[in-house]
Amino acid sequence: MILDCAIIGGGPAGLTAGLYTTRGGLENVVMFEKGMPGGQITLSSEIENYPGVSGEISGMDLMMPWPAQCQKFGLKHEMVEVKRVSKDGNIFKIHKEDGSVSQAHSVIICTGSSPRRAGFAGEDELFGKGVSTCATCDGFFYKGKEVAVIGGGDTALEEALYLAKICSKVYLVHRRDTFRSAPNTVKRIKNTQNIELVLNSTPEEVYGDNMGVTGLHVKTGNGEIRDIKVLGVFVFVGNDVNNQTLIQEDGSFLCDVNKNGEVIVDIKMKTSLKGLYAAGDMRLSAPKQVVSAAGDGAVAALEAITYVDEKLNS
Ligand code: FAD
Ligand code: NAP
Repeated sequence: MILDCAIIGGGPAGLTAGLYTTRGGLENVVMFEKGMPGGQITLSSEIENYPGVSGEISGMDLMMPWPAQCQKFGLKHEMVEVKRVSKDGNIFKIHKEDGSVSQAHSVIICTGSSPRRAGFAGEDELFGKGVSTCATCDGFFYKGKEVAVIGGGDTALEEALYLAKICSKVYLVHRRDTFRSAPNTVKRIKNTQNIELVLNSTPEEVYGDNMGVTGLHVKTGNGEIRDIKVLGVFVFVGNDVNNQTLIQEDGSFLCDVNKNGEVIVDIKMKTSLKGLYAAGDMRLSAPKQVVSAAGDGAVAALEAITYVDEKLNS
């Protein structure tokens, strides 16, 4: 059987694509998700910027009803890791971890992105409990409190500026004494009174109690350990787009990606390859929010419906 649409990844983008494709009339739609559906937001202990959700709920609670809503309209879910997506003529092939291959007329790829971890002690254990990789998402929880930001690139500096507007103080911890960021951003950082630069310093350990983070140990340039009492630690040491399934046997990408590996799409989430759409965190200039990922999934689904309809009925 050739699927009308294969959705790769079951985060907010993939689940919304699943809802819109099935409810919009496509009949054989399978969402391939390697773990439990829900995506990376299920790692977050609190989300309060998804419209219509008043009060703080966990990411897990937010995502819990999404799969059942899709299944109601006929979305099927295969719990399997997709290794590669290829195209043979005008049929897509989904190569799965177990060696089997599914075929589809269209593909919506929604495999998200993964913020890099810096690798210091306690970072993984306290992730989502004070350690965060998203200032827009979690900054508000530290309103009027002190936080640390790790990193020295554009993201770290821009997010430090954002946090400085909400938090009483931001310690910007960077392992060198020069930044990778744009000079004007560095200037703004230096002119922001409640940002303290902690340079030539690497995070050693984040620690806390059962309520979350209570502090950070950093190793300074002269080898001493400095104890910084903060309730939040924001790690911005780079981001990897999960684009591995698009890499072909010869090393080329199935569609165009930019130098950061983000999939290049137009406003309709169309990639450079006909019938292939990308949605959510993995696409060009994604805002990396649940609401935008869901919106992308809907846009991609509506395009896929039109494409499949024209392909099968013309
Ligand atoms: P993802 O959520 O990353 O989902 C991708 C899915 O694809 C995953 O389920 C993954 O398992 C699956 N997948 C990947 N590769 C494969 C493969 N090869 N085969 C099969 N499946 C695969 N956003 C907000 O709007 N508000 C917040 O408060 C907020 N807080 C956050 C807190 C944390 C700790 C984190 C990490 C993120 C937060 N975000 C928040 C960001 C938000 O989670 C993402 O923007 C959103 O989840 C992106 O959705 P997505 O569907 O594009 O990708
Ligand atoms: P990045 O430029 O790769 O910077 C990562 C930073 O984290 C670097 O300062 C690096 O230190 C530091 N770092 C890496 N690993 C670390 C570790 N294990 N421990 C401590 N520090 C570590 O990543 P980014 O800031 O996310 O930016 C990614 C790309 O997006 C860049 O091209 C950037 O210019 C672009 N971007 C642009 C804008 C904009 O134009 N406004 C905004 C955001 C991002 P070193 O410097 O010592 O290597």
